[in-house]
Amino acid sequence: MRTLFEVYFIFLLERVTNRTMKKRRPTIPFASWKLTIDLDRTKEIQGHKSTPAFECKCDLCMEWKLVHREVIPAKLLNQLARIGVDLNAPTDLYGSGAGLEDRTIRVVFHVVGKIISGPIGNSYDDQFEYDIFKYEEIRKNPPLIIRVLPEPKSNASAPTSMNRPIPGMLCIDMRLDYSAGKLENRK
Ligand SMILES: [Zn+2]
Repeated sequence: MRTLFEVYFIFLLERVTNRTMKKRRPTIPFASWKLTIDLDRTKEIQGHKSTPAFECKCDLCMEWKLVHREVIPAKLLNQLARIGVDLNAPTDLYGSGAGLEDRTIRVVFHVVGKIISGPIGNSYDDQFEYDIFKYEEIRKNPPLIIRVLPEPKSNASAPTSMNRPIPGMLCIDMRLDYSAGKLENRK
């Protein structure tokens, strides 16, 4: 067992280390990936007006704002925050399910940075180029899978500037199910 003093000392040490590392664009663990993120440029592309979900008032987008804190595991929420993702402002969101039905959605975010390591397609397939970027299973039931890939390799909509994709982006591509019961709790 660590004494309270030791715990506090480690806490302080981590804070100092994080602060010095921040300037050097730290390597941030994200699911099975390690990423370096340009947090300033990432902030600029959150809730970008060029994106399909920008101020979208469809049922699933409105619902997402109410339920995302409950339907994503705390650890992943924390990691998404660390890489600068604004969960209230996806690039794109679509799916199925209404009323009492279960929801199945795809929700996509973008950050500016690089993949240092992690699951990535290592064999090129002409026909199925997009599918070689494998999803990682975060939760089995209800399912939640996620993948990180360079934006030019993704088939998802991305923030644009003057009709061109912004350079250096990574696509955070998440698919998940949740039950309508999650909504009942909110009412
Ligand atoms: Zn929408």
